[in-house]
Amino acid sequence: MADIYSMVIGGQNVAAAQTFEVRNPSSGEIVGLAPEASSADLDHAVAAANEAFSSWSRHSDAALQAACEAVTAKLGEHAEELAELVTKEQGKPLNGLGSRWELGGAGAWAGYTSALSLPMKTLQDNNEGTVELHRKPLGVVGSITPWNFPVMIAIWHIMPALRTGNTVVIKPSPFTPLSTIRLVEIMNEVLPAGVVNCVTGSDGGASIGAAMSAHPDIRKIVFTGSCATGEKVMRSAAETMKRLTLEMGGNDAGIVLPDVDPAQIAEGLFWGGFINNGQTCAAMKRLYVHADVYDAVCDALVAFAKSIPMGDGMAEGSILGPVQNRMQFDKVKRLVDAGKSEGRVLLGGEPGDGLFFPATIIADLDNDNPLVAEEQFGPALPIIKFSDVDDAIAQANASENGLGGSVWSKDIDRAKEIALRMECGSVWINKHGAIQPNAPFGGVKKSGIGVAFGEEGLQEYTDVQVVFS
Ligand code: NAD
Repeated sequence: MADIYSMVIGGQNVAAAQTFEVRNPSSGEIVGLAPEASSADLDHAVAAANEAFSSWSRHSDAALQAACEAVTAKLGEHAEELAELVTKEQGKPLNGLGSRWELGGAGAWAGYTSALSLPMKTLQDNNEGTVELHRKPLGVVGSITPWNFPVMIAIWHIMPALRTGNTVVIKPSPFTPLSTIRLVEIMNEVLPAGVVNCVTGSDGGASIGAAMSAHPDIRKIVFTGSCATGEKVMRSAAETMKRLTLEMGGNDAGIVLPDVDPAQIAEGLFWGGFINNGQTCAAMKRLYVHADVYDAVCDALVAFAKSIPMGDGMAEGSILGPVQNRMQFDKVKRLVDAGKSEGRVLLGGEPGDGLFFPATIIADLDNDNPLVAEEQFGPALPIIKFSDVDDAIAQANASENGLGGSVWSKDIDRAKEIALRMECGSVWINKHGAIQPNAPFGGVKKSGIGVAFGEEGLQEYTDVQVVFS
């Protein structure tokens, strides 16, 4: 019998009238049955969060910090249990940059965010009067998360909301709802009832997610997911003038200059593109390599990629796992086929068993090939040759996305000059995708609105109130 999970509302486990199956992408086995929330269940969760807000928002700053620290400690105690659940429902291996690493990141973000604060700022204090800037919590925050890093992204949404005195209703992806339900249960061991609630639904998340975006008693939506869904959220949030943080898709470019040592950068290039099997918002999804080092970089990258074992996530030896779901697998296959029709396959290219798709590297592509132009969000990296750096920058910028980018060179000053010309929210030199809790992270152009992390990320969960006296 599969485990039956329930919603978490007002500090209680609440069973839903119906459930849906959550399957392990490595084996196809059922991991558990998730609750199918109705719109009445959502209303119930929002009402519980609203009720909790009246006292939670009046906690002192020190009390909010202490509560967030207690949540961080609980997360640490349950890290291995949550990592195993993430591996079972998401597919990523326990090891490498897999679920244990994800839980480590979640703990680091939780701890760092607990220690942040937004004290009152005195803008003026003179004989003409005093002007104070206060940061006030918004109310109920609705969090909508994707399936690629279910626990870490939930922590990115929940912790800054709690730290600033808001309450939360979270709705995880229907592909990975169980670890979020368990995370919220664990949080409820140390939080007052109703401060964090969890509802789940199966229909691609469309009905519950859409209902959250339109809900009159939700004051902010923090959304991480695809651009298409983010646009829908923004449209329906307009009617209630919700605050929004939208962290959406990317098609990050990496630019390799002619002065690199190919063997030295191969590992960084590989993990830049293939972290979490490429199912990472800020993974490197297009690689532009200067003609002088093109063949050597391709060879070094392929040699490194061949050394990475892929297999069932629960096997301790696996470093890469399956693609998370059939829809994503079919998308990766379509884009790889498009790449194969015009490019040269250096590695992989043929689907494996079940949802396994081997690491695939395809060279000699142009900017308009679909594998280059679209976000693949999977284990396939296209390589494009360039001989003029200005052309490479122009091609990198010829995208409606602008999440991350990278420049690879021994000349750090030159790399920084190029970095500043790239249209994206984060740029890395000689690495790709390395985010950290003290650095604001967000996208430009269609990759999103607002930032997460650090003080700037915390501010997004507040309204400004200015007091003149
Ligand atoms: P998705 O847009 O399909 O789903 C994201 C969430 O939205 C899920 O919880 C889903 O149930 C919900 N949803 C679906 N329809 C909805 C609707 N009409 N209204 C409201 N919510 C709805 O995305 P996904 O496939 O789960 O995730 C992959 C995408 O997420 C990629 O494009 C990736 O780049 C992006 N992503 C971005 C970041 C970032 O920080 N920028 C991080 C991780 C993933």
